[in-house]
Amino acid sequence: MTELDLRKMICEAGRRLYAKNLVAATDGNISVRLGPGRFLCTPSGVSKGFMQVNDLIVADAKGNKLSGDGKVTSEFTTHLAAYEERPEMNAVVHAHPPKALGFTIAGVSLADCVLPEVIYTIGGIPTADYATPATPEGAVAIRGLIRKCDALMMDRHGALTVGSTVFDAYFKMEKIEHAAESLLVGRLLGNVRRLAGPEIEKLYKVREAYGVSGVAYKCSDECETAGETMQPSEPEMDKIIEDTLKVLGRG
Ligand SMILES: [Zn+2]
Repeated sequence: MTELDLRKMICEAGRRLYAKNLVAATDGNISVRLGPGRFLCTPSGVSKGFMQVNDLIVADAKGNKLSGDGKVTSEFTTHLAAYEERPEMNAVVHAHPPKALGFTIAGVSLADCVLPEVIYTIGGIPTADYATPATPEGAVAIRGLIRKCDALMMDRHGALTVGSTVFDAYFKMEKIEHAAESLLVGRLLGNVRRLAGPEIEKLYKVREAYGVSGVAYKCSDECETAGETMQPSEPEMDKIIEDTLKVLGRG
């Protein structure tokens, strides 16, 4: 694949991010590894929906611009951390998918084991600690977590995905927002039914058998350990409160 092909791919992925409302205005950024220590990335301050191949910038592994007219995206240090931690991956996409972002605002984890297709492709979607956007804090926040997953949420900010190609990373971003939308509807209807442990294990086995690339975050780990994901739904909570009041003789 030529550098021009990769440039076209980034522009197309940018158009889709913008068209699908996964970014607003000039938000988000995309990069691809060109070779050792060379990356192609989106410029800062340009809408990802309207990029031309010549708008893109070549940068080195320290984030210095090697060629191009604009400025290297402000989130490039976060991309570099992902490349360092996942040397087998060639592309990074960062966007602000609004529904998935809403889950982080509410402090509700997307790492629940609910949707089989999501577990099968990317596993659970963990959330990295809050970091000030456009600063090196982002790199620190995602570094540990990106080793364990291909798709993660950045608290109150957005999402980041890695892939073997630009479109592999882009599709994982679509998947995050799609999962968030389905989970939101489930929550609005009053309940989120998690898959049973043996069903989750089966999905990981099927994933392995089909040779799905990347690292699937083991959502079952988080379900067992994270308090927020084990929180009962509102109807369950009402029942618990009712039962507790009965026990206390106040029901
Ligand atoms: Zn951002």
